[in-house]
Amino acid sequence: SETVERHEFGAEVGRLLDLVVHALYSDREIFLRELVANAADAMDRRRFEALTSAASALPPDAKVRIRPDKEARTLTVSDAGIGMAKEDLAQNLGTIARSGTRAFSQTLESAKAEDRPSLIGQFGVGFYSAFMVADRVTVTSRRAGADEAWTWASDGQGSYTLEPAERAEAGTDIVLHLKEDADEYLEPYRLDHLVRKWADFITVPIAIVQDGKDEAANQGTALWRKRKSEITPEQYEEFYRSVGMNFDKPWATLHWRAEGQLEFSALLFVPGMKPFQALENDRHSKVRLHVRRMFITDEAELLPPWLRFVQGVVDTEDLPLNVSREMLQSTPALARIRRAVTGRVLSELTSRAKDADDYTTFWENFGPVLKEGIYEDHERRAEIAPLLRFRSSAVEGWTGLADYVARMKDGQEAIYYLVADDAEALKASPQLEGFRARGLEVLLLSDHVDAFWPESLSRFEEKPLRSITQGGLDLSAFAAEGETAEAPEGIDALVAAIKAALGADVSDVRTTDRLVDSAVVLSAGSGPDLQMQRLLRRAGR
Ligand code: ADP
Repeated sequence: SETVERHEFGAEVGRLLDLVVHALYSDREIFLRELVANAADAMDRRRFEALTSAASALPPDAKVRIRPDKEARTLTVSDAGIGMAKEDLAQNLGTIARSGTRAFSQTLESAKAEDRPSLIGQFGVGFYSAFMVADRVTVTSRRAGADEAWTWASDGQGSYTLEPAERAEAGTDIVLHLKEDADEYLEPYRLDHLVRKWADFITVPIAIVQDGKDEAANQGTALWRKRKSEITPEQYEEFYRSVGMNFDKPWATLHWRAEGQLEFSALLFVPGMKPFQALENDRHSKVRLHVRRMFITDEAELLPPWLRFVQGVVDTEDLPLNVSREMLQSTPALARIRRAVTGRVLSELTSRAKDADDYTTFWENFGPVLKEGIYEDHERRAEIAPLLRFRSSAVEGWTGLADYVARMKDGQEAIYYLVADDAEALKASPQLEGFRARGLEVLLLSDHVDAFWPESLSRFEEKPLRSITQGGLDLSAFAAEGETAEAPEGIDALVAAIKAALGADVSDVRTTDRLVDSAVVLSAGSGPDLQMQRLLRRAGR
C-alpha cells in the first residue's frame, strides 16, 4: 500500500545482524531474555513518566506477556510500557546509537564462547538477537500519551518498513515469525523454563499466555530484602549477573540493611572484571533505586562518579513511591542514603586493602576511577588516600602512601612523585637520576588522572606531595653516590652559552644536582607540573 515506507538499515546494523546471528548461534535462547528485559524496562520507564504525566499511567494489570502461537508459528512479546513513536522505531531499531560495530565485533571475537551472550546486553544490541530465531520480526508500538500506532517490520536483510497501525493501548508487541528450526520456542514449558532461569529478579510481572490464560512465570523475588542467611552464594552470583549483565564473579558482595533513622536495604557488588564498555564514557552511577521493592530509576546517582564501577540495588522505605525527578535531586533522605552507602563501600575497600594480593585485583581494575575521588570529593579525600596504590622507583609491585612514608629517609620532607604517559617512559626518565643516586624513592604515576589529583591531595600524614619535575627541589642535604663537591671547571661559561643559544625559549638555565648520567633535564620551574603542562597544551590552552 502507499502508506508503507521502506528504509535501509544503517550500514552498521547490517554487519551487526550478521555478527549476532552467527557468533551467538549456540546461545540463541538469550533473545528472549533481551526482549523481556526491554519490555520490563519500558514498563518501568512508563511508570516513572506517569509521575509527572497522567496520560502515561500504567493500567492496573500491566504485565509482560509472552504468547506462543503454534498455528501461526509466531512468538509475541507484549508489554504495556512506554511504547515507541514512529521516529523512535526508526531510531532505536534501525540504527546503532551507542556503540560501534567494530568495538563489539572485536570484543566478541576475543571473548570466550560462554561469555558471549552477556556481551550483546552490554553493547545495547539486544533487540537484534530476535533475528537468531526469526526470519521476520514485526514491532507494533504506541507511545504512551500518543494516539497513533506504527508497525516496524523487517526480515533482517538490509531494510525495514514502517506503516501506520492500530493498537488499543500504549505499549509494544514484538512478533517473531519463527525460523523452521526454532520450534522449541513455541512450547510453553520451554518458555517458562527460560523465564525462570533469568527473569526471576525482574520485578515487573511476566506471564506466559496459554489458551488465552496468563500463567505467572516469574516470582519477582526482591533478593536484597531477604536475610543473608537465606541466600546462597549461587543466588548472589545469579543476581549479580542479572543486575549488570555480568558474567564474571563479583570481587565484593555487600549486603546490609540500615535501620533506625534511615531505612534501606542495599545489595551492591564490586565486579571482578573491568566492564567492556569503558568507564570513561559514562561517569554516572547506575546503582538502581527501589522504593518498597518497586524499581524507580537507575539515574538517582546513589554513588559518586568515582565509585561508578559499583553495581546493585538500594531499596528504601524513606521515599514515597511517586518520587519525582526533582525530588531525586533535592530530598534530604536520599542525600543521607548516598552518604551512608558511599561510607559503606569505602569501609569495605579499606578492610579488603589489608590483603595486598586480593586488593591488587580490585586496584588494577578500578584504581584509576577511585583516584578521581581525590580531586572531586574533598570530604572523602582523607578516606580515599590510604586506598591508593602506586608503582615506585624503590620497590616492586604496588605500594601505598603509608608504606612510602615509613620508608622515607631521615631529613626527607616530601613525598616525591613523577607523572608521565606510560610506565616505560617513567623508568627511563632522566628526572629520576638524582633521586636514584641519593636513594630517594619516587612514586611513578602513569594513569590519565594522575596529572590532576596530586595537587588536590597536597599532603599525606603531614608530608607534602612534590612533583620532581617542579623546580626548587633541593637535594643537597642527601649525599649522592660518586658525587664531587666541586663544580666542574668552565661550567659557568657553558651555562651562559646555552642561555644565549636558547634565548626566550626558556626562562632560565641552571646547574643541578638532580642529574647523574644525563646532561640536561627540563624543569617546570614554579608553574604546574610538566605532565599537567602537556595536558593543558593538548587541550589548546
Ligand atoms: P538496549 O536495550 O540495550 O538499549 P536494544 O537493541 O535491546 O538495546 O534496544 C534498543 C532500544 O529500543 C532500547 O534502548 C529502547 O529505547 C527501544 N526498545 C526496545 N524494545 C522496546 C520496548 N519493548 N518498548 C519500548 N522501547 C523499546
